[in-house]
Amino acid sequence: MMHDIGLYLYANAEGEKRLRVMVGGGLGRTPILSQQIREDLPWQHLLSYVEAILRVYNRHGRRDNKYKARIKILVKALGIEAFSAEVEQEWQHLKDGPAQLTVDEYQRVADAFVAPTYQLLPDDHLNFGSQLMAFPDFARWVSRNTHAHKVPGYVSVTLSTKPGPETPPGDLTAAQMEAVADWSEVFGFGEIRIAHEQNLILPDVRKTDLLALWTLASEQGLGVANTGLLTDIIACPGGDFCALANARSLPITAAIQARFNDLDFLHDLGDFSLNISGCMNACGHHHIGNIGILGVDKNGQEWYQITLGGAQGKSASLGKVIGPSFSAEQIPEVIERVVHTFVDYREVDERFIDTFARIGIEPFKERVYPPCEEQLA
Ligand code: SF4
Repeated sequence: MMHDIGLYLYANAEGEKRLRVMVGGGLGRTPILSQQIREDLPWQHLLSYVEAILRVYNRHGRRDNKYKARIKILVKALGIEAFSAEVEQEWQHLKDGPAQLTVDEYQRVADAFVAPTYQLLPDDHLNFGSQLMAFPDFARWVSRNTHAHKVPGYVSVTLSTKPGPETPPGDLTAAQMEAVADWSEVFGFGEIRIAHEQNLILPDVRKTDLLALWTLASEQGLGVANTGLLTDIIACPGGDFCALANARSLPITAAIQARFNDLDFLHDLGDFSLNISGCMNACGHHHIGNIGILGVDKNGQEWYQITLGGAQGKSASLGKVIGPSFSAEQIPEVIERVVHTFVDYREVDERFIDTFARIGIEPFKERVYPPCEEQLA
């Protein structure tokens, strides 16, 4: 929902592949969630419909101004109805033409994706339960860092690159990369995927191999059970490396990870995303973090603006600015206050984003901006 064009593929009641087409999203200096332009588009029209969108953009888009040369700006200017009408009109010339996908073409491409030779395995192996009981840290890692697989007996595994404050998110040494490459062959089919959360995925791991993989990953500092938790921070390189930055991201990340170093507490908090960008270009996707941190420049000094309530995925939302920005030193305390406000208002095992949707931003504001005598240290 935050892309220029978003395509959501689904099967309708008859089992036919259909597309929901979203258009006009984007982050950066003008964050906008996309809007639906088409529901129920048969997959055969995928290319012609996207081409119609691009043609309308080419005709009316603001190519004269690099800050406005985005589909989202055009959709906002015209309104979704007018934009949609233009696209439909354009599409009438393109549909059923050479860009229409055929079953033969679909099959030609599908044939290039050869499924690996999975073993026939039971979904659970006999020792799995006792391994989980014997190694609580392993059980915790399994609960956060493995994901269901469509083939029985297999899971996909996320290797977290966020072990703690010593390592910037996404940084790996050559030795770690060599190790992961080896594991991809020993515990899979030689495939490694990179997640936009700055973690690594081994997509086809047998459950019988999980304990061995976790043991090796832990020795390499890649076995931390924090996927999707508060310390699984997405951070851009910020002022340490990027010439466009207003402020540094990595020391802020490290300070937050140092403050929240209790894994039990993090697991109790549950799903929580925290994203940091060093400037409004938003490479850290701060708008869609449950907590977003944006580096801003005030008279040559580094300051940080906080947003709350952002989310990615099917229920994506843009975070709301909580108020005036903070100095780097104040950030860990601010995050702590946000987290404890959540804990105080949370119902049972509610996720942060659901509590936020229920109570709004005010309780957080009240706690983060206390009376003068309690000003943040
Ligand atoms: S968000 Fe800004 S500071 Fe961070 S990497 Fe992108 S351009 Fe650089």
